[in-house]
Amino acid sequence: MSNKVIYLDNAATTRVRREVAEAMLPYFTEEYGNASAIYSLAGGAKEALQNGRDIMAGLLGCAGNEIYFTGCGSESDNWALKAAAEAYRAKGNHIITTKIEHHAVLHTCQWLEKQGVEVTYLDVDEQGLVRLEQLKAAIRPTTILISVMFANNEIGTMEPIREIGALAREHGILFHTDAVQAFGQVPIDVDELNIDMLSASAHKLNGPKGVGLLYIRKGVKIRSFMHGGAQERKRRAGTENIPGIVGFGEAAKIAAATMQERAAKETKLRDYLIERVLTEIPYSRLNGCRTKRLPGNANFSFQFVEGESMLIMLDMAGICASSGSACTSGSLDPSHVLLAIGLPHEIAHGSLRLTLSHETTREEIDYTVEQIKEIVAKLRDMSPLYEDFIKGGQERQGGKKNVQ
Ligand SMILES: *Cc1c(COP(=O)(O)O)cnc(C)c1O
Repeated sequence: MSNKVIYLDNAATTRVRREVAEAMLPYFTEEYGNASAIYSLAGGAKEALQNGRDIMAGLLGCAGNEIYFTGCGSESDNWALKAAAEAYRAKGNHIITTKIEHHAVLHTCQWLEKQGVEVTYLDVDEQGLVRLEQLKAAIRPTTILISVMFANNEIGTMEPIREIGALAREHGILFHTDAVQAFGQVPIDVDELNIDMLSASAHKLNGPKGVGLLYIRKGVKIRSFMHGGAQERKRRAGTENIPGIVGFGEAAKIAAATMQERAAKETKLRDYLIERVLTEIPYSRLNGCRTKRLPGNANFSFQFVEGESMLIMLDMAGICASSGSACTSGSLDPSHVLLAIGLPHEIAHGSLRLTLSHETTREEIDYTVEQIKEIVAKLRDMSPLYEDFIKGGQERQGGKKNVQ
């Protein structure tokens, strides 16, 4: 087992499925025409583009011409927020979002604040859920947009999107959701959920990197993001990434066809992993909501342990994991998501995210749990804080074994 890598970082990115890579290949070397061209060589590219749009529309329950292909999920988030702020300026300048969004949303909001837009960052509860009452109270006559993520990339919590959509609709406010983690994992119908804009990205669902989409409901006033050619109905210039779009389409098609079976399998393995960790490792806790949770996400905190050290030791054991989001590793700040659910700094620092895929096996999970047990024990042995704690600090600190 140790000569094979165990990949448990599927929330960061995923392996491209072989069928997806194969579907893309002809669009590099044979159907390489520019989809905007008139000659018949471009026919295949044009068709592939339309086909890609239709697949996405089928998944989201919208029309093909409401799908705009972009370069990534971050671009889709940037576009939705910046363009809505500009197009609806006459109506107001207030946006509501949450403290646990991906940086693609958070940093865009911070940039918008510098342009004079007012932003409310909602707190979440200890499970990472938005409180609807707080959202309702934050709505002003000048609110033009609510942006709340479908599912959180760190702790896997799934937000009450239906209720938020209904609230936004009732108040005539646009609703954008960053569904990069949820798209292809759980069913999404934009009409049923009253979603006006939605971001997704191919590389989070076993598709290629470098292609994303933004769904924009017909009638939503939105400015073009990239200026130049007339691609994507003049709203997103740049020669279309046809191989990427074909790969995204194929990945989405497979994700939709296998959704139920994958979710059932991953949920079962995830719950097995959670159960083993919480019962076999003292002073551990699960972060995020126990039930409203992405099928493949498990996020733990281990007291008296440094997340980064754990990652290095797991890597030596052939296991790829994460201690927060890929974008924050390399910085020593604890994750903004873990702080928002109320974890103290020292516990947030000792966190570990394991994200499963359809390829994850029970043997891999068993091996991983054994490794985590050993690593946590080793690191605690080296920790003076743990030593103090064990030597009689236990009662003083009221140490509960598993803080859940
Ligand atoms: C990965 C991710 C993004 C960014 O998508 P890219 O395609 O990597 O730019 C945005 N939001 C969430 C929730 C993500 O998980």
